[in-house]
Amino acid sequence: MTFDSWLHDARRARLHAVGSAVVSAELLPHHPHASPVAGVVGELAVDPSVGLSEVEVERRQKLFGRNLLATRRPVSDIKLLVRQFASPVVALLAAAMAVSFLFGEWQQATAIAVVLLINTAIGYGTERRAVRSMEALRTLGGRNARVRRDGRSEVVSADALVPGDVVLLEAGDVVSADLRCVGGAALSVDESALTGESVPVEKTAEPNPQAAALHERAAMLFKGTHVIGGSGEGIVVATGLSTELGRITELVEEAQEDSSPLEDHLARLSRQLIWLTMGLASVVAAAGLLTGRPVPLMIETAIALAVAAIPEGLPIVATLALARGMLRMARHNALVENLSAVETLGSTTVVLTDKTGTLTENRMAVERVVTATGAFWFDYQTRTVLAAGVPIDPSADAELTRALLVGVLCGNADYDAETDSGSGDPMEVALLRAGALAGLYRGEQLTLFPEVAEYPFDPATKWMATAHRDHDQYFAAVKGAPEVVLALADRTGIAPGPFDDRAKAAWLDVAEQLAADGLRVLGLAAHPCADPQQPVGGGLAFVGLVALRDPPRADIADAVSSLCRAGIGVVMATGDHPSTALAIAREVGIAAPGATATTGDELSGLEDAPEAVRSEMARRQVFARVSPRQKLDLIELFQGEGQIVAMIGDGVNDAPALTKADIGVAMGKRGTEVARDAADMVLLDDRFSTIVTAAREGRVIFDNIRRFAIYLLSCNFAEVLVVALAVFAGLPLPLLPLQILFLNLVTDIFPAFALATGEGEGDVLDRPPRRPQESIISAGQWRMMAGYGLVIAASALLALVAARYWLGFDTAATTTVSFLTIALAQLWHVFDMRGRGSGVLRNAVTRNRLVWYALALCVGLIVAALTVPVLATALQIGAIGVEGAALAVGCSVLPLAVGQVWLAAGPVAIPGDRADPRTGRRHRRDSQVPNGVD
Ligand code: ATP
Repeated sequence: MTFDSWLHDARRARLHAVGSAVVSAELLPHHPHASPVAGVVGELAVDPSVGLSEVEVERRQKLFGRNLLATRRPVSDIKLLVRQFASPVVALLAAAMAVSFLFGEWQQATAIAVVLLINTAIGYGTERRAVRSMEALRTLGGRNARVRRDGRSEVVSADALVPGDVVLLEAGDVVSADLRCVGGAALSVDESALTGESVPVEKTAEPNPQAAALHERAAMLFKGTHVIGGSGEGIVVATGLSTELGRITELVEEAQEDSSPLEDHLARLSRQLIWLTMGLASVVAAAGLLTGRPVPLMIETAIALAVAAIPEGLPIVATLALARGMLRMARHNALVENLSAVETLGSTTVVLTDKTGTLTENRMAVERVVTATGAFWFDYQTRTVLAAGVPIDPSADAELTRALLVGVLCGNADYDAETDSGSGDPMEVALLRAGALAGLYRGEQLTLFPEVAEYPFDPATKWMATAHRDHDQYFAAVKGAPEVVLALADRTGIAPGPFDDRAKAAWLDVAEQLAADGLRVLGLAAHPCADPQQPVGGGLAFVGLVALRDPPRADIADAVSSLCRAGIGVVMATGDHPSTALAIAREVGIAAPGATATTGDELSGLEDAPEAVRSEMARRQVFARVSPRQKLDLIELFQGEGQIVAMIGDGVNDAPALTKADIGVAMGKRGTEVARDAADMVLLDDRFSTIVTAAREGRVIFDNIRRFAIYLLSCNFAEVLVVALAVFAGLPLPLLPLQILFLNLVTDIFPAFALATGEGEGDVLDRPPRRPQESIISAGQWRMMAGYGLVIAASALLALVAARYWLGFDTAATTTVSFLTIALAQLWHVFDMRGRGSGVLRNAVTRNRLVWYALALCVGLIVAALTVPVLATALQIGAIGVEGAALAVGCSVLPLAVGQVWLAAGPVAIPGDRADPRTGRRHRRDSQVPNGVD
């Protein structure tokens, strides 16, 4: 059967089938691990050296669907609308409406229905915005895969893979579909995600027995597993739910909605407040009934009060604030992969960062080569090699040529001398560029000395080697950290006599001097070998040192000082030489002038060290020659000292540390897929300074949610309090049920939303991080809300008493005055939400244009409520005249005045802002934080 007829049959079969996933799975090769490569290739009708054509890919995409495990269908608008009716507020309003009908109050019932509609519309609008923002965010976080299609290698979205696609893999990739391995070099895969087996499995193209268990199928690469070494190619044999991973995820079609602890916390808070409110409302109703108020009025008041105090908008507005903040972060190149990271960002106290590429440009250039014959400088502008300041002919020096040859051969990068550009590891590109300056081109040299084996670089051992054929002999070219290469060497290329410890120490001294200059130093060695497949074990001939310049990024010093001001210490943990690390750390302001570098070895046994030693260690700023495993120890050390650690990492081996850190940060361009998978946040532009933006946005989001919550809850509290006090004091009701609904479901909401989406104070980064155990609303902030509620209630009562007994108003007009007072006071209250220390006129609230729009809208609505006859009748508005209005306006500014005095001097803490009570300074740093010296 030809592939075409097979496809034709398959499509026909699909027409009669119910679920496409089932039918598609039937079309896939049955035992790819047991078939030889040629069999699988034939079955999938693909030539591995060319790959599928775009047309064929499109055809197969229609047949097999997208390569997804869980499909997150967009929430439909209808579903969003229906959701709005499932809230306790709606139930309460419906109850209020029923009571109004029961007592024949048609107008009131209709008004409640209108309020209900408005409330639903606002809820729907907010939730829709939040949900759509979240969906937009999700599309930013897609995974990629490198494939060969139409004979070219290209990067495609992993969910666009189809059976038959040829996938190219290298260390650090996450396997995106089930693949039949068709070739590989030392391709090893961590399958623990699938099989639970943590020992890496080597993959080859050889078929396995048909009965082989999953973990014995060395010819297969499974979706979700990690390539941790080598490179290779595989052909997609199953995608999406047809993969082994898809099968064990029990065909979960709909992905779980993830929520952050912050949202969960707010949802819990809302639920608790509902019960509290119900209790309070019942007490007020009972008191009203006991003081002889009409039964229907008190029932409605109780319901209205309950509605008033339920902070039903809290969780959804938190989601909105999170989503919009995260979109803003993504626009600034910080992509949050995990919702809770936003919260943790606000309390991060230490950023643990690597050096190369994060703090430095990763644009390297060989500056010097030191061999037994002397030191050589490379000048790319004049294209000359200099010795003792004099241009020389590099090819005339055999030792220099040998050193450059090792550098040119031992690597995987490419360099084009004509365009002066290259691809691959920047350090290896720099070596090729230096070689080209001396007339040694990799292509030519590889023709002379073909590569027969490679021992890839491993950050744990810190060296790599390649084996080459030289006529009928072989030799290895080795490069790595100087101390490692020197330890493996027992002679030099030319110097006769023993290469003893003294000679090695002299070389180490040279390396040290180069490193102290901020240069990255590599040792080079060569080694004739009889069997190129035998790993290099020692006996190398040391050839020399090469020193590369990798300048720090221009914006790092500013970023480090911003983080420092924000109470976030920056710690460098690099695999590089201690002196190089220290020189760069000093240059960018991470290390204080007298600081020293601590090596990874000094971290061993630290877990059993006395507490004092551990805390002293946790105050250091530069850790060098740190292996990925030791990064994990470092994170534990800092966490043990109560720090909240963000860790930046990009390598395959960094994944455990990224997971262990409170926030794992991966690099979008340079980072491996494995690191990205383990990270909570991705810096899309690979810039360290993006961390500053992220930390700022994280704090702003948290502050906004706090501001919103505090504003809304203090308004609600004021309403409950004013009604309760009036009922107990036997005064006329200061707010009627419909008026409460009007305030809460119409006028409060807009300023609150505006607060939730603000851009934050200019100085959010000038204060210490939030304490992690600090809840969203701290005890002090609860007191502050109570204080604000009390003052607003008191001013409304003052207006009520003055209207009744001073101006002699009737009940309706009196209630209108207090209604107007409280409505306006709540609007002005939004200005109390500025940060302490910010300007009275210029602050995050006044700068937020949405706040002004919201205020204008709400003032308009209140004026409409007073003047538009239908509304005025429904809200039972009485005529208050100019003096009533003046009284209300006058009383409404009292709480604002009190709030501003509190802000200037008083004990009230503003969202997220903790002043030092002793000094009044807002800018306090934690002495435990590295580089956090006051
Ligand atoms: P960072 O951890 O800040 O990214 P790094 O790149 O120096 O710094 P590693 O990649 O762990 O850290 O490298 C450790 C050391 O190994 C380097 O200082 C260098 O001496 C050596 N080295 C790095 N890359 C290679 C390579 N491709 N080949 C040979 N040796 C290398």
